[in-house]
Amino acid sequence: MELDEYLSPSAYRDEEMKACRVHKIGDFECDTVRVPKPVGKQILLKVEACGVCGSDIPRIFTLGTSRQRYPLTIGHEFGGEVVEVGPDADPALVGQRGAVFPLIPCGHCDQCVAGDYAMCSDYDYLGSRSDGGFAEYCLVPSAWHFVPASGPETTGEMLAMTEPCTVAQHAVRKGEVVPGMNVVVFGAGPIGIMASRWARIFGADQVIVSEVVSAKAAFAAEHGVDVVDSSKEDLVKVVMERTGGKGADVVIEGTGVGPALGQAIECCRTKGTVVLMGTPSRDTTIKLGQHSQILRKELRIQGIWNSHYAATPINEWHYTVEQMGTGAMQVTDLITHRSDLEGLPALCQGIYDRSISICKAMYVAKQ
Ligand SMILES: [Zn+2]
Ligand SMILES: [Zn+2]
Repeated sequence: MELDEYLSPSAYRDEEMKACRVHKIGDFECDTVRVPKPVGKQILLKVEACGVCGSDIPRIFTLGTSRQRYPLTIGHEFGGEVVEVGPDADPALVGQRGAVFPLIPCGHCDQCVAGDYAMCSDYDYLGSRSDGGFAEYCLVPSAWHFVPASGPETTGEMLAMTEPCTVAQHAVRKGEVVPGMNVVVFGAGPIGIMASRWARIFGADQVIVSEVVSAKAAFAAEHGVDVVDSSKEDLVKVVMERTGGKGADVVIEGTGVGPALGQAIECCRTKGTVVLMGTPSRDTTIKLGQHSQILRKELRIQGIWNSHYAATPINEWHYTVEQMGTGAMQVTDLITHRSDLEGLPALCQGIYDRSISICKAMYVAKQ
């Protein structure tokens, strides 16, 4: 497939919709635009909800869109109902609800051939490079991107949590968490909390979450998380005490900052695994003694990027939607802010200037 064919809709419905678009850095508005019409294998989704990702804030206010393509409808954490399909797509999809895998891989680079789509060397992406989910409707390249929900018990808000929840699941899988292990997660944002929940689903014994911001630590504690406020307590000491001096089997670093990485190394057991999940935003520095511990303890340092979508060994997206559908994975209690499209630019502004503090913020469509 050629990427360019997805960059802009080739047909439109005789209808208008609201869409929140970035026009230039710092200019994010709720606009009225034409509703695209699916052609070929494309499907048209009526968006039920779309989460605000941490990466959307710099996309609006500091860095701009990936290819500096404007105006662009952003939002990549979404789900909804298929309302129309192109002539080459299965008409039985109409009426089905599900989440959308927003990555559009090239399909022919080495990584794509191996099924490692997240590492594709030339990808497109709904919500950062092509129009995404902060709109009433979103055009999706094909049914390949659609992850169906089992039934109405999987709400639109749950479907919109699928993307970050699957990133959290991927970190726990790559950490090779097995029953009985002790796990530490750094960072009590939505992905950190969901990683701690996956660790429990995967059979971990103790799952300790470390958070330096007291308000976030308090929120996590209220939501059933075994959290250590590391601004008040010595995290490494707590982990050592609670693991009989051994250290955690798997440590998931979700903050991307040096002091946390250093502590992650310190509280990991000999031959344990440190998973690097948090995206760094500046140079990472660790202490000499911490660097030495990586060698002396023969730690396994495992980076992760996004999630695994190929069917083999397992499509993590399908597993997330399934586990949300059964109620095993709880996600909607982490949504602290909801908005319609008209209110979304102001909500994002508040997140950017820190006048509001969120766990998860989300666009939720009017019923
Ligand atoms: Zn995201
Ligand atoms: Zn590729």
